[in-house]
Amino acid sequence: MLVGYTKPITQEFTGEKQEALDKLKSGALLCSFENDIYRRWVFEFKTKQHYPIETLVCDCGNFTRKHKAYYYEWALDYR
Ligand SMILES: [Zn+2]
Repeated sequence: MLVGYTKPITQEFTGEKQEALDKLKSGALLCSFENDIYRRWVFEFKTKQHYPIETLVCDCGNFTRKHKAYYYEWALDYR
């Protein structure tokens, strides 16, 4: 019998990037104004990993300018 990891590898990214992905997967919204880098990460999640991440108008109330939030669309996750 082969000895190996029984746990599937869920860690695809490292550090804060993985945290952002975990947050999305947990159903939380990711406010695009909280961190400028989210836009780049989300683009990467979508294009490289094909995660069904959608955008909506953020209503966090922390910023006066209209902006977007990202969310994980589980209905589109066929994997
Ligand atoms: Zn916001």
